[in-house]
Amino acid sequence: MADDCLFCGIVAGDVPAKVVRRENGMVAFHDIAPKAPVHVLVIPERHVDSLAGVEGLTPGERADMLAFTAAVAREHGLEPTGYRVTTNHGADGLQSVHHLHWHVMGGTRLSDTM
Ligand code: AMP
Repeated sequence: MADDCLFCGIVAGDVPAKVVRRENGMVAFHDIAPKAPVHVLVIPERHVDSLAGVEGLTPGERADMLAFTAAVAREHGLEPTGYRVTTNHGADGLQSVHHLHWHVMGGTRLSDTM
């Protein structure tokens, strides 16, 4: 847990969030400002700043993160029509929350500029 990390606050239950799935050290919750009809964030409970710090997760956590993310999309009914998974790192990536998170977006035809 990192001090002053918003998403660590969600993991700890100190910051309210609409959690949709929690399992194997991963949490999924609704983005507070959705950019698509379905916009869920997937995070590891263990704090790493971004994908650039993924070595800070165990091999098991890294594998679980992928399967967990696919399960979130499936549970939201996105597999038949499609979805997008993205993560941002650093200033050029416009990362605003410095705890690794994956945006799972779908439910409409996504823009090619999103
Ligand atoms: P990024 O710009 O990739 O770092 O994405 C951060 C995302 O976190 C944005 O899509 C925000 O809307 C979202 N966000 C910020 N604060 C919260 C919060 N308290 N609960 C849920 N999502 C949040």
